[in-house]
Amino acid sequence: MFSREMCCDGICETEYSYTDDWYACIDCADVLFNSYCLEKLRAGTLGRLICNKDHEMVHYPKYNPKKLKAIGKGNVEVGGKVMSVEDWKAGIRTSYGLEPLPAKVQENGMIGNGIKEIEESTG
Ligand SMILES: [Zn+2]
Ligand SMILES: [Zn+2]
Repeated sequence: MFSREMCCDGICETEYSYTDDWYACIDCADVLFNSYCLEKLRAGTLGRLICNKDHEMVHYPKYNPKKLKAIGKGNVEVGGKVMSVEDWKAGIRTSYGLEPLPAKVQENGMIGNGIKEIEESTG
């Protein structure tokens, strides 16, 4: 076997990059097509016994720096609406019937910088 980089599992051997549209198969593990080969798969003309034209695909859209900038750091686009990641997570919690998280929870319940001063008595 040869090892390969992430590249199209169709016939074009295009390497995976963020500058193209990609489709990952939900039913097959580790199967990735670009739109060129997906079209062939769907049409039954791919010529490779891989995946299936009826399989469902997840679409990874083209990397779009302009759009990313418009959405802004710390925000996500969900269903065409831009919101902060925090709001999005809170919304998910609510939709599962969970309480919203308190604003700030200190890990292991310590106060301040987490360092607890211990005074030794030297009696
Ligand atoms: Zn391809
Ligand atoms: Zn598949």
